[in-house]
Amino acid sequence: MYSSNDLQDAIQAGQLRVLYQPQLTADGQKIVSVEALVRWAHPVHGLLGPGHFVPLAEKTGMIIELGETVLRQACQDAMRWPDLSIGVNVSPLQFRDPAYADKLEHIVRDSGLPFERLELEIVESSYFDDPDKADKILRRIRDLGIKIALDDFGTGYSSLSCLLRLPLDRIKIDRSFVSGIDTVRSASIVHAIIALARAIGLKVTAEGIETDDQQKFLRAAGAHMLQGFSFSMPVTAERIDQLLVSGEPIRGIT
Ligand code: C2E
Ligand code: MG
Ligand code: MG
Repeated sequence: MYSSNDLQDAIQAGQLRVLYQPQLTADGQKIVSVEALVRWAHPVHGLLGPGHFVPLAEKTGMIIELGETVLRQACQDAMRWPDLSIGVNVSPLQFRDPAYADKLEHIVRDSGLPFERLELEIVESSYFDDPDKADKILRRIRDLGIKIALDDFGTGYSSLSCLLRLPLDRIKIDRSFVSGIDTVRSASIVHAIIALARAIGLKVTAEGIETDDQQKFLRAAGAHMLQGFSFSMPVTAERIDQLLVSGEPIRGIT
């Protein structure tokens, strides 16, 4: 296990890396966005996924610094891709930082990235920790032009309340729904979620697309954007550069 000192040292030593996973149009033909996903390039244990250290960072409060590091890097990298928007995950604990919105504005402004190209991915507990505060922060962020996506939609306790109350631009349907679309029950739920989101003017991204059948289904069901290993794993910024030039391993329905 890692200690908070290890993580602090890692952040200071620049061992955090940001990978990017493409998000494509529903036909699977074009990358329109990327999601920033943090990794720890551990000198001994190799590239560690967020499951190994984000919970620790949340427990110790280090998530504030981690979140800022990822945001700064993601905005800077996104300047290379003028036609893409960029999704950045936000921990519910970052909302507890009274300076969060100020710091966010400052970091994005500093990078030169137009606010409209940034989409923050929040989870529903960000809201229910302190609804009034979250509402205030989210409205301020949206006034800047930054978009808000509700991540892992459907997995919490209050997804519908969030749709009712939160200022949102998009929902991201959790991959646990996508992976089950070969059953009538999951397929019906996914259809209903997309119809509901569309009815209230939200965009829909489906996460965790791993097969052609899932892609076809989600496209037909009306998802706007697709993301998953079927198209690409999370990759380096340099690899995104290459993908944008060559368009190469992105597979679409023919
Ligand atoms: P998430 O935001 O829902 O990100 C999607 C996760 O699903 C990523 O895992 C991605 O690699 C994985 N994924 C994408 N497509 C597929 C697929 O087709 N099949 C499967 N099985 N998995 C797929 P990752 O990178 O391990 O991230 C896990 C979670 O860690 C993220 O879930 C997010 O909640 C959190 N996270 C990642 N980066 C950050 C960050 O910078 N800050 C914060 N606060 N949380 C982060
Ligand atoms: Mg996310
Ligand atoms: Mg998710």
